[in-house]
Amino acid sequence: MSEPQDTDWTRRKLLTAAGQGLVAAAALGAPGAPADAQQPNAAAQSAKMPSPPSPITLDEINAPTEQKHGATPTPMPPDQRVGFAVVGLGHLTLNQILPAFGECKRARLTALVSGDKAKASQVAAEYGVPASGVYDYAGYDQIKNNPAVDVIYIVLPNGMHEEYTVRGAQAGKHILCEKPMANTPQQAQHMIEACRAAQVKLMIAYRIQYEPHNKLAQQWVRSRQFGAVKVIEAVNGQNQGDPNQWRHKKALAGGGSLPDVGLYDLNTTRYLLGEEPYEVMGTAYSTPHDPRFREVEETVLWQMKFPSGALFNGTTGYGFHECRRYRVLAEKAWFGMDPAFSYNGLRMELSQAQGMAEYRQSPSLDPKNQFALEMDHMAECVRQNKTPYTPGEEGLQDHRIMAAIYESARTGKAVHLGRIDTLDTFRGKDRYETRL
Ligand code: NAD
Repeated sequence: MSEPQDTDWTRRKLLTAAGQGLVAAAALGAPGAPADAQQPNAAAQSAKMPSPPSPITLDEINAPTEQKHGATPTPMPPDQRVGFAVVGLGHLTLNQILPAFGECKRARLTALVSGDKAKASQVAAEYGVPASGVYDYAGYDQIKNNPAVDVIYIVLPNGMHEEYTVRGAQAGKHILCEKPMANTPQQAQHMIEACRAAQVKLMIAYRIQYEPHNKLAQQWVRSRQFGAVKVIEAVNGQNQGDPNQWRHKKALAGGGSLPDVGLYDLNTTRYLLGEEPYEVMGTAYSTPHDPRFREVEETVLWQMKFPSGALFNGTTGYGFHECRRYRVLAEKAWFGMDPAFSYNGLRMELSQAQGMAEYRQSPSLDPKNQFALEMDHMAECVRQNKTPYTPGEEGLQDHRIMAAIYESARTGKAVHLGRIDTLDTFRGKDRYETRL
């Protein structure tokens, strides 16, 4: 993107923001840079921000011993929300993401990008997107002229993420990209550089990192609530159908079960511990002659070692009945989720001893729509000029580790990654608010 376009875009967005009373949507800081490095810009713009709404206080109905439900929500008025364009109208978009806008407090749907004109028109009518906000893939770049779009949410096959991120960034829009970020670490790196050059934010849609039960599990791990964590074990897999779908084509998917669903085992473990593995060991297997696994793998088992001494044992697959769970084995208790990675119905488990009894518990928090939480987080980052909690660097690190797992499976040897002794090295520094 050329300098004059950048400047024009930034000025136009600042003017729009001022006119609408919005936080400046123009990202002036580089995504992935330390969040505090972006604060001067945020501070300069904060005069233009509307005051964040305060929760309304209601009288307490229940006894103090009853479960607390937190403050009342604080939605932004629709015309002050951050506008999102969604690219790709497949299963995830139609079944999860578009309905989730109904539960958003900061984000709103303002545009759609699809190769299917009839489908796009129907969906636009259903969600109140004007005809001027509907684009096809060839016309995608024209989205730069749409001031109602601040963020582009890319929900295409993995092999298309790089192209649509780069084009979206060059159109001057912030990018929220589905997982896995890309097919390779090289593509992921290119996406980061393109967003940095265009001065737009890049967030990877790791919904689990915005979900309250997982956040509670993370707090238990980090605070050593039940002692040191010794092992995390995780399984995420399902029995795939049609061998002709893009998930079974290497060029569109990048790999098989590992980048699609095994990524949840990997990313959630990194999120819980905050640590990075320094050694991985993997093995992969595909049923011979199964047409689903001509190009991509079926099953991957892998282990990781972390600097604290915690070990990981993971399983992912495309040929067994759906199973999505993890368990954290700590000194004084084990806890986890089953299911852990589903859209709904997450269930937490905790088991610990007291005297003669072993207590099995199912702690539960109010369920939240994970997609609404992640989109609202992106909207907050745009409004307040913050680095997303899961920026492009977080996605790139998963790709580096997955490449090492594949290498280990190929060579039969452990693969050493550089040792990283800091916590949350690839995450934005600002914690997110679960309740908006
Ligand atoms: P899908 O196949 O249902 O939808 C993909 C969309 O891309 C379709 O609208 C399709 O028409 C369009 N498309 C454009 N060019 C295409 C091409 N050359 N080949 C195939 N489709 C093409 O896929 P999905 O399940 O919605 O997944 C989309 C993305 O979302 C993937 O990156 C996937 O990993 C991710 N995803 C994330 C989650 C999550 O929980 N965060 C869940 C499912 C999928």
